[in-house]
Amino acid sequence: MRTVPKPISVDDYRARVRALVPATPVTLLPLEQCVGLVLGDDLVAPVSLPPFDNSAMDGYAVRSVDVADPVVELPVAEDIPAGRTDVVPLRPGTAHRIMTGAPIPPGADAIVKVEDTDGGTERVTIKAQAAPGAHIRRTGEDVAEGATVLRAGTVLGSPQLGLASAIGRAELPVHRPVRVLVLSTGSELVEPGEPLRPGQIYESNSVLLATAVRETGGEATVLRFVPDDVRAFHDTIAGHLDKVDVLVTSGGVSAGAYEVVKDSLDGRGVDFLRVAVQPGGPQGSGVFQGLPVVTLPGNPVSAALSFELFLRPALLAAMGHAVINRPRVKARSGAELRSPLGRRQYRRGFLEGEAVAPVGGPGSHLLAAFASSNCLIEIPEDVDVVAEGDPVTVLVLG
Ligand code: AMP
Ligand code: MG
Repeated sequence: MRTVPKPISVDDYRARVRALVPATPVTLLPLEQCVGLVLGDDLVAPVSLPPFDNSAMDGYAVRSVDVADPVVELPVAEDIPAGRTDVVPLRPGTAHRIMTGAPIPPGADAIVKVEDTDGGTERVTIKAQAAPGAHIRRTGEDVAEGATVLRAGTVLGSPQLGLASAIGRAELPVHRPVRVLVLSTGSELVEPGEPLRPGQIYESNSVLLATAVRETGGEATVLRFVPDDVRAFHDTIAGHLDKVDVLVTSGGVSAGAYEVVKDSLDGRGVDFLRVAVQPGGPQGSGVFQGLPVVTLPGNPVSAALSFELFLRPALLAAMGHAVINRPRVKARSGAELRSPLGRRQYRRGFLEGEAVAPVGGPGSHLLAAFASSNCLIEIPEDVDVVAEGDPVTVLVLG
């Protein structure tokens, strides 16, 4: 009697793939290469921000006691544009014209903004009083020298990289991008841009998967694709295995004949199994010649969803991310949905407010429907029908 092995659960398989991909080392990278990466060490400010007391306004630096009357006229003794480094002390009874960001001259304790004056350059008429400290940005008000401004584990986006620059950093220690080798398989595949013959289709998983890798902050090297030929498979990956952290393949893992990935890697460190998920049941993973390998099914939506469910969290975790899962929200299904018992189904949907409209059917070849969705509707293993209006869990993509 032949027994069919029980499929592994989505959560168990996710944990298994995650355990395969080791953490990337922390390295120093120039700021422009740090976008979306995770800071590997606490960032301490070697300078204060602002580094010196400076003006928050274009106007005049004064002593507040000199502008106590409703209208006063003062000689303008100095002009201080931003960037001037030789700051002359303010003598009592005078004003210095000053621009935003310029250093406050010693002796001045307030700024009168230009709108409250006649804007004079030799003498200035001031029509407003100024409290001590008015419009002065104090040294260290934002950041004190020696303070930790970003903690290790922070995901670096534009505000964080701006802050790093502001404290004088040109490079940051980050968990370096995970390097992923992407290889598609299938004798029916044709490079986009080339003519198609009957029975052939354009190859799309390479671009889809490489882009998904790059969206995590990882680096993808695309080997394009190989025909369903074990020799060609091994010849193509040879020479690349020691240059990457993970090999991701698509196609050739199901139960048919000519399953090139299975035929090439089965019994050589990679296990082929079924996951209790739809789409994307047939999966493979393991370590081949020292390299973690994750083999995805070939149907584009299966490949994309498998990446989303299993590889994306593994790659993010390897790059030091604490948050590796998509936001989950509850929404009301806009239609009845049917799902196979015993498998967790992910349907493509469009979430708007509290309603989610299913997009396309469950078929794993429906790439256009996937491309016009913005979420996945998760139907648990023990649910076979979701009625229109029922609450469902939605994974928000993008
Ligand atoms: P397979 O998993 O190799 O049996 O492929 C399943 C389905 O996905 C078949 O219809 C293939 O033609 C299609 N397919 C496999 N790989 C790709 C690819 N890289 N690009 C587009 N379609 C693919
Ligand atoms: Mg195939």
